[in-house]
Amino acid sequence: MDWHKISLDKLAKQAEVPEGYIRLSGPLEHDNIVNGDGLRAVLWTQGCPNHCPGCQNPETWDYEVGMLVTIDEIMERLSQFKGQTGLTFCGGEPFVQPKACREIAERVRKEFGWDVWSFSGFTYEIIKEYGGEPWAFLKSLDALIDGPFILKQRDLSLRFRGSKNQRLLHLKQGTGEILSIE
Ligand code: SF4
Repeated sequence: MDWHKISLDKLAKQAEVPEGYIRLSGPLEHDNIVNGDGLRAVLWTQGCPNHCPGCQNPETWDYEVGMLVTIDEIMERLSQFKGQTGLTFCGGEPFVQPKACREIAERVRKEFGWDVWSFSGFTYEIIKEYGGEPWAFLKSLDALIDGPFILKQRDLSLRFRGSKNQRLLHLKQGTGEILSIE
């Protein structure tokens, strides 16, 4: 089985959301300290093609359910969260809605001065090879936690990660260059 090829094919199946909208799997969170450094807002996206065995959020896999929300409404809600240092995209799989995620990432950085992290079931290398909007979203980030959750490699002692194969990549925002790896 060529896992890399399969992953590229999966990444190609982008969620269809109208321009200016994003599909969420749950309400926006704030004051979160378990999905990245500092005090963070968290945005839960809907839709994931990875279907990792042992996934804790299988209800987020379906591309058609959840809540369609305008990006302007997301920004309005986020603006009410005081004292946050950043925003983290969780899923679901944020990289199947890369255009909307990038727009939100760029706006929270510019309007609130927050840093931006994202989780992905795809690896950095797969996103880079795929290019296009997923790579553009990655370049807008300060950190990426990458790779699928692998049940056999589960390790609850890792910072912000569920399994040993997953990496916390600190990125040079704007270029996607890897600055350090945890
Ligand atoms: S990538 Fe994340 S949301 Fe998707 S199946 Fe794997 S663990 Fe679940």
